[in-house]
Amino acid sequence: MEEARRILRDIFGYDDFRPNQAEIVRTLVEGGDALVLMPTGGGKSLCYQIPAIARPGCGVVISPLIALMQDQVEALRQLGVRAAFLNSTLEREEERKVERALLAGELELLYIAPERLLAERTLELLERAALALFAIDEAHCVSQWGHDFRPEYRRLEILHRRFPRVPRIALTATADARTRSEIVEQLDLRKARHFISSFDRPNIRYAITDGGNARERLWRFLQREHPHDAGIVYCLSRKKVEETARWLRARGRQALPYHAGMSAREREANQQRFLREDGIVMVATIAFGMGIDKPDVRFVAHLNLPKSIEAYYQETGRAGRDGLPADAWMAYGLQDVILLRRMAEESEADEHHKRITRHKLEAMLGLCETTSCRRQALLGYFGENLEAPCGNCDNCLRPPTTWEATEAAQKALSCVWRTGQRFGVNHLIDVLLGKESERIRRFGHHRLSTFGIGGELKAGEWRSLYRQLIALGYLEVDHDGYGALKLTEGCRPLLRGEERLELRKPRRIERKRTAKAAAAPEFDARDSALFEALRSLRLKLAKEQGVPPYVIFHDSTLKEMVVAQPRTLEEMGGIGGVGVQKLERYGKAFLEAIQRQIPAEIA
Ligand code: ADP
Ligand code: ZN
Repeated sequence: MEEARRILRDIFGYDDFRPNQAEIVRTLVEGGDALVLMPTGGGKSLCYQIPAIARPGCGVVISPLIALMQDQVEALRQLGVRAAFLNSTLEREEERKVERALLAGELELLYIAPERLLAERTLELLERAALALFAIDEAHCVSQWGHDFRPEYRRLEILHRRFPRVPRIALTATADARTRSEIVEQLDLRKARHFISSFDRPNIRYAITDGGNARERLWRFLQREHPHDAGIVYCLSRKKVEETARWLRARGRQALPYHAGMSAREREANQQRFLREDGIVMVATIAFGMGIDKPDVRFVAHLNLPKSIEAYYQETGRAGRDGLPADAWMAYGLQDVILLRRMAEESEADEHHKRITRHKLEAMLGLCETTSCRRQALLGYFGENLEAPCGNCDNCLRPPTTWEATEAAQKALSCVWRTGQRFGVNHLIDVLLGKESERIRRFGHHRLSTFGIGGELKAGEWRSLYRQLIALGYLEVDHDGYGALKLTEGCRPLLRGEERLELRKPRRIERKRTAKAAAAPEFDARDSALFEALRSLRLKLAKEQGVPPYVIFHDSTLKEMVVAQPRTLEEMGGIGGVGVQKLERYGKAFLEAIQRQIPAEIA
């Protein structure tokens, strides 16, 4: 462990292990197997990188994320670690070079795509090499129920049989119990030690807003909180991705689209810009993001409802991997609820699978409509109990006001009943508000007892009420394609007056947040100027080498430089994230940049 600590300090530039990291590293260094469940940004990579360096032989990392291997390897080389990768992007000649280096014992870490690893030729190569460990990254890919299923992952149990002496570590950020047991089963990790970290991401602030004009509200959120930051905006459809990206660009943001309808080349180009430039907003369908390693994504915004809490957690988890404050912001509306319900009903899946899909959507809606702490609800869904409300979600920071909605709900429900359960929300609202339209007359709805009884609420408020009644299961949406609403069994007690209903009030004005300033003091003008200077130096160095800026230094490292203002190389070496190698390569340049910014009399 002495050696492991030295590597942590000298190579990676960190003083202490994070919770669980030390025990995981010890387990592997001593030759044991481990299963690691840790949230995104928790620090999984060090758990295998350090033992791979500390143990004799090369550590083999299996990852499905071919597009990222080059950056991962580059980041290690920047630290002075001898790393390489083998995947389909390499030329034959480069491949041979890597293989020779492996056999000569010159590699500490080798990244391999699963299909490449499983080729008999590769297995034989590995048998001739000295191996420190196998790390199976993104281990949830073995799960057939998950969204990232990779058939090759199921064949990885071969490692245990062919390399019985080489320790294995499987890692994932997917939390649910079912996936976990599938990993243990499929990868034969029954004897492995299990390390399960809390899935809380305290630096992420959750906010879910409802009501109309989501795009305009997104804009206000971006302007107020993230005028220059990089982030991701998720939309459900390709069309909406294109439109939203165009719209943001028209308003002066650097926004790029990403969806499955684009060519692989365009997608790759946009992803590279997102990784390599500062302040890009990626507007994407969920096709974007798995394994996006960018640590300084400052916000993830959803313009549509994700279809499950698992998906929401995974997508929002791409924000703030560096541990600095980040936002998970979502706007959702009635259309989302109707659309997702319909998609669940119309899918080809069998009845059992459909029930699971429905159940997951209900849970997601529950999270949206809750009036108490979002984080407690979110972690509770994964079986984790957070003692007190978090103080860092919208409901904690600005407790929603509720209103006594029983009577209005009764009106809304009986209007559904009176019109024969054949009409969608817009028509129902017209009836409640007593609109004398041609359509209303055609159906004779101006003669109904519910015609014009809803004057106490505005159209938007009725919409919000209908959405909540659907979300809470009092109404269901017919999947005939027209969105007709139907009563469910569950609405009887409410209609009979045996049950009362409290609902959250839509927020009209979004007040300025105040708590953020207390949580993370913003830089003053001079500090900001220094931070910007360090950032542009970093960008220049990154461009020269063709690597993403965070491969040089993370934002958190630059911020620490701003606060500590080191004046000597020794002081610089004490900054988190500045190891021996990086101190040598970049220490002087950054010291000079700091000195240029600070007036001489202070320095
Ligand atoms: P994950 O793979 O779990 O999403 P990473 O391995 O990318 O997370 O680590 C997330 C961030 O935390 C990285 O910036 C990494 O350098 C940093 N980190 C990891 N371990 C430590 C540590 N012990 N001390 C300080 N920073 C750490
Ligand atoms: Zn909270």
